[in-house]
Amino acid sequence: MRPPRKNPILRTRVPTLPPSVRSRVALGLTAAAARGSFELQVCRDCGTVQYPPRESCRVCLSLRLDWHVQDGAGELLSETMLRHSNELFYRERMPWRLGMVRLDCGPVLVAHLHGDCAPAPSRVRVRSALDRAGQAALMAMPEKDTPNMADDRQLREMTCDPKFRKVLITDAKTPLGHALVEAIVAAGADLVWAGYAEPWKKTAGFDQLASIPQVALLPLDLTNSRAVKDAAGEIGGRVDILINTADHHRNYGIAARNGVEVARAEMDVNYFGLLRLAQEFAPALRGRGADGQSSAVAWVNLLSIFALSNFPPHGTYSASKAAALSLAQCLRAELGPAGVRVINVFPGPIDDEWNQLLPPPKIAPARLASDIVHALRGGVEDVYPGDIAEDWLARWRDNPKALERELAAGT
Ligand SMILES: [Zn+2]
Repeated sequence: MRPPRKNPILRTRVPTLPPSVRSRVALGLTAAAARGSFELQVCRDCGTVQYPPRESCRVCLSLRLDWHVQDGAGELLSETMLRHSNELFYRERMPWRLGMVRLDCGPVLVAHLHGDCAPAPSRVRVRSALDRAGQAALMAMPEKDTPNMADDRQLREMTCDPKFRKVLITDAKTPLGHALVEAIVAAGADLVWAGYAEPWKKTAGFDQLASIPQVALLPLDLTNSRAVKDAAGEIGGRVDILINTADHHRNYGIAARNGVEVARAEMDVNYFGLLRLAQEFAPALRGRGADGQSSAVAWVNLLSIFALSNFPPHGTYSASKAAALSLAQCLRAELGPAGVRVINVFPGPIDDEWNQLLPPPKIAPARLASDIVHALRGGVEDVYPGDIAEDWLARWRDNPKALERELAAGT
């Protein structure tokens, strides 16, 4: 069911957030949820799986606890409908369904309960998602998918589903841009603004986008402060999800080229472009964080796995993406209080013209687009699509210095 439209006469509420204070050890749950993974502590000595997270094992008091992925299968033992809460966030959203679940791996926990879960006792799957405060929350889902399950009112409070929402894609002229416009339309968005710069430049597939009924073309050059301001003035108050796909990519290191023009152009799009967008669009998104069930929910940045550690053959590009990552963390801190999620996407090399000479594997634009839609639906904030990104992430988490040496040696 389409959520009711906001009554324009009513004042927009000030955003409220679910309780967000967590102990440092409990942030382990959040760190996993940010990547879309449900992990619990497992004792290395006695094998106990425990929840809630603690400093030591509840059975043998061992301190050797590791985070391991869980499948979340379990049994719903009992449920209740919350009709009163001292927390303002939940009071505004009553009634709220909660259930007690015994996971097959041992722990018993209280979880938000999806509307399609059968009454207790029944089988459920528990998954971890980030709530509006950006902290991990556990949601019990029906064991098997049901039609339109993403529309659940409680689930939508934790996800950024494009369905029924208005989405701005800042650069629709790239292969990823086309694929993303089509994927977001297919996901049920009400309206997609497809941004484009350099109108004189013909690119395959772009003109067809205009014939999709939900798509509106929007001139938007991120290197021009005035153009960004004008676009924000025109549509800023209606954007629910902003996806910044603008990307300037040349493959040079330092010694291969004289002068700073190429590096400056990369910074102008990848870093200053994001800054211009954030200055003009973020205040409006922040103001609409509590605008009912179709409020402003997400800001997506197309970064690169090269942002984590410099890839010398694409050295200046890597540096511009590292700068953008740092700025995106600032943006996340500023949009967080409004419940608007900043999702950073770290793909490996995309299969486009500037990676032509790189050997496979490369990520196809259509796959990347579907991973971005999946991230919006999944309530995550960091996405590492494709095999190369996953491999880099694993090596970077294991030992950043080793990865730096390996990249310098070209391995
Ligand atoms: Zn133990």
